[in-house]
Formats: sequence, structure tokens, C-alpha cells
Amino acid sequence: MPRTDYLQRILFEEVAARCVVVRLQDVLAEVGSRCRGLPPAAQQLLSEALLLSALMSSGLKFSGRLSLQIRSDSGPLRMLVADCTDQGGLRGTVSVAGDERLPEQAADLIASLGHGTVLTLTLDPSDGGQRWQGIVPFEGQSLADAVAGYFDRSEQLPTAFRLATNGNVAAAIMLQRMPGDGTDGDGWTQLQQLLATVQPAELLDLPAETLLKRLFHAERRRLFPERELHFHCPCSRERVENMLLSLGPEELATMAGEPETVEVRCQFCNQAYRFEPHELAALYPDDDVRGSPTLH
Ligand SMILES: [Zn+2]
Repeated sequence: MPRTDYLQRILFEEVAARCVVVRLQDVLAEVGSRCRGLPPAAQQLLSEALLLSALMSSGLKFSGRLSLQIRSDSGPLRMLVADCTDQGGLRGTVSVAGDERLPEQAADLIASLGHGTVLTLTLDPSDGGQRWQGIVPFEGQSLADAVAGYFDRSEQLPTAFRLATNGNVAAAIMLQRMPGDGTDGDGWTQLQQLLATVQPAELLDLPAETLLKRLFHAERRRLFPERELHFHCPCSRERVENMLLSLGPEELATMAGEPETVEVRCQFCNQAYRFEPHELAALYPDDDVRGSPTLH
């Protein structure tokens, strides 16, 4: 059976550019089942964010994770996060202000973003390497616009996206300039023109290899093996314990409900981690230094 969730990339041999196609189906269903009741516009943006993070993850040159985040202090959309590992593990979450009516269209939700909204890209190596973060004001009419603008302005890597979703399937294609000697004439312009002809139905229905062949049949190109994509959340009880430890006993006390237990729910996968009073006390064995572990 053909894969439902995958990433396929090609490198052009005569133009300093690469092209990546991503298709998501099972990942969308999995994310949807863990963030139930999302309004359609928020769901749409979450799908787009997952596509974009997967596309960008194809350029990772280390083991780890790329994370795309939108954060806003005002407006109905407060936070949108999607991340993808070099192993194709995807997760995402979106949070909307509970007391505001949400626009029905994703484009209107983007238009409602406040002035202070920022787009953050984070590269997080898993081997202990340096974490890298780029933060820019959110600019554009869509998520894809904002990310393309980021690559153009901050990385000097002109980038173009085409995205399509139909509720069950989401697919996207990215064309990206790569650092080169600039001797490829109008090759880059031609690739952009070809990309602009991609129709949503082609993206959603055609296998990536067929789509790439059809689009770029006249270009010399190298096809890389397809990479599987899947839902993956790396949260664990140990990570939650570390997070609670970093809060300290006083702040922890403010989180405790009755009877003095703490439940932390992963915002990505909805897994609940519950800590009983004796487990919380065990987190702070050295209470002379850190204060009383007792929760009130
Ligand atoms: Zn999780």
C-alpha cells in the first residue's frame, strides 16, 4: 500500500534550488483526535503549520527538531505551534482565546492577528548542540507568506510555497533557492513559473514523484528517497518532572488542586501526567534549601 504521509525532495542539477513535497493524512487525523473541537479556521491553520514545518525540516543537517511558532498577545489566535524532527515525527497544537468569536476562514484568522504577533523558528539539536532561534514580526496574508518572507529577508533564500487541504488530506510543495554562484541564468525564474502552475487537485491527488516529474520533466534533477512522516510527541513523565522542578515548590503549590495533586496535560498529545502529594514531595527532597515541599 502506498504511504499516506511522506516527504519527497529533489535537487536541481543545473539550478541552485531544491523542491520538496509533503503529504499528510494519518498525521492530520491523529492531531485532530487529540485537539478535539477545534474551530475549522484554527484546524486549517494547524494543518498548514504542520505542512510548513515538515517542508522546512527537510533541510535539517542535524538530529533534532525544527519548530514553527506563531504567538500573539491579542486577537483570537494566541498560539500556533508545529514541529517536525529529522526522523519525520510531527506534532502541533493551537490555542485560541476562549472568549472571542473566531472567524470562519483561516485567512480572516490571520488577518485578525494583533500587531505584536511574532513568527519564531527554532532549531533544536537532540545531540546537545546549540539551540538556534529566529524571531521576526509576523508579516503576510497567510502562514506560507510569512514563512516565505522570513526565508527571503532573514536567510536570503528565496522560497515559494503552494499548499492545499481538503479536510482529510493536506499537501504542499516548496521551491527554495540554495546558496550558489548565480550562474544559472533564468533557471530560477523558470522553476518559479512552473511551481505557480500547480493546482490543488494535483497536490492532493498525485503521488509526489509523479507530480515532480510532470512539473519539472525538462529539468535535470536528482530524486531522493521518500521519507515517512508520522505523529510523534516526545513528552514523558520524566520531562514533566523536570518542568515541575524548574518551577520550584511555591509555584507548584499554586498549581495543586484538591487534594493537593498536580495534573499536567501535554498540550500537543493531550496525555495527562498526574502527581500525588507524596510524588510531589519526592521531587524536592532537599527542603532545607528549596523550602517546604508541602502543597497548600
Ligand atoms: Zn505529548
